[in-house]
Amino acid sequence: MAKKPVIGLLGGGQLGRMLCESAGPLGYEIAILDEENSPAKQANHNDLHVTGSFKDPAKIKLLASRSDVLTVEIEHVDTEVLEEIATVGVDVPDAQGGMTKKKVPVHPDWKTIRLIQDKYQQKEYLGQKGIPIAEQMAIADAGADRKASLQEAAAKYGFPYMLKGAKGSYDGRGNFKVRSPEDFETACQQMGDQPLYAERWVPFEMELAVMVVRTEDDAGNLQKVMPYPAVETIHEDSVCTKVFFPPRNAADDVQTRAQKVACDVVSHLWGRGVFAVELFLLRDGQVIVNEIAPRPHNSGHYTIEAVPQMSQYKAQLCAIMNDFPENFEIVPRVPSALMVNILGGAKPTSHDDLTELSRKLTNRSMDVYLHDYGKQSKPGRKIGHITAIGYSSISKLVEMAQPLIMSADKMRA
Ligand code: ATP
Ligand code: MG
Ligand code: MG
Repeated sequence: MAKKPVIGLLGGGQLGRMLCESAGPLGYEIAILDEENSPAKQANHNDLHVTGSFKDPAKIKLLASRSDVLTVEIEHVDTEVLEEIATVGVDVPDAQGGMTKKKVPVHPDWKTIRLIQDKYQQKEYLGQKGIPIAEQMAIADAGADRKASLQEAAAKYGFPYMLKGAKGSYDGRGNFKVRSPEDFETACQQMGDQPLYAERWVPFEMELAVMVVRTEDDAGNLQKVMPYPAVETIHEDSVCTKVFFPPRNAADDVQTRAQKVACDVVSHLWGRGVFAVELFLLRDGQVIVNEIAPRPHNSGHYTIEAVPQMSQYKAQLCAIMNDFPENFEIVPRVPSALMVNILGGAKPTSHDDLTELSRKLTNRSMDVYLHDYGKQSKPGRKIGHITAIGYSSISKLVEMAQPLIMSADKMRA
């Protein structure tokens, strides 16, 4: 048998774990850079893994030396070293006992990852390309007059507005809702000296997300951008808790309009892979972009069961290996799906009822699947998810899955 292609993966969390679950049957080897026993490593044993941080340049180079292509499950990585690996190469032994440089392609492109890392720059770029976004302004550096800058944002946007850390945020951990001038002091203290920006508050009707696959030919020319269906995402305290496919109570044309905006966004990026485009649906029907993730995403977990022929993970692998089937159309195999995140509760056993329920609810009209990430439970941490797929409408599915929804809500209460 030919040597299996090796995909080097920066980050070994749950997204990496599900990527590995898809890679096995497809005959791809995944080399993971993360801590020993990280969720992805638990699910994928081989002697290519690297132990260490996906922020450590030396470890990233070691990973690259063992890989045919590099990809990420998290955008908060060192893009300087990714640029060097893709353009100059890493040292590998040559046949004469010396060393030579090997260039390893990075997908999505390091330029895309670098742009997306800075949420402010990311949206400035999208704005310049004519993509609808919420108004935003940079906040003065710590040390300069931050409070005056927060005041200026209030004058522009009114209260409340959203203050965001430009880099390193996830699960809303870099967000601060500024409700009044009394919040300025706390905001400055809580946000520390990281770069900040302010965003107009968006009184959205619904949050949506669209996964998009981006393929390129060998020369790096854009081939296709293909959307998955738009889904409705529910965020509580800025963390995604539930996903509904299709969105409940959305006008018929929302699907196509959301997909159009998402595809426009992804056509302006670089490299191959899957991308999540998080969107706000406004009351007047307008769809605006919140942010992009250059990788598989929480809102796309449901595709494992609802689009089994091409889940977001399989799509990521096929796209980066330039092996995406020609003329493929992304068509869900079921009319409805819902996903509930399992977030760690106050006690390590807080989620036991929820996981137990997932084992009981499957019936003739609904299949329920549990995904445990093999992570230690901590309050608010994503430690697993449950997907229910339905054989009729989303409203019927929601009715049948009510115990799951209630159990997840009870944990948060
Ligand atoms: P993640 O990367 O995990 O999706 P994040 O930390 O990058 O999250 P955002 O996506 O910027 O955070 O925001 C998290 C949530 O906060 C959004 O999904 C939305 O519910 C809410 N939110 C963000 N920006 C605004 C805004 N301008 N107006 C109203 N709500 C907002
Ligand atoms: Mg984000
Ligand atoms: Mg987000």
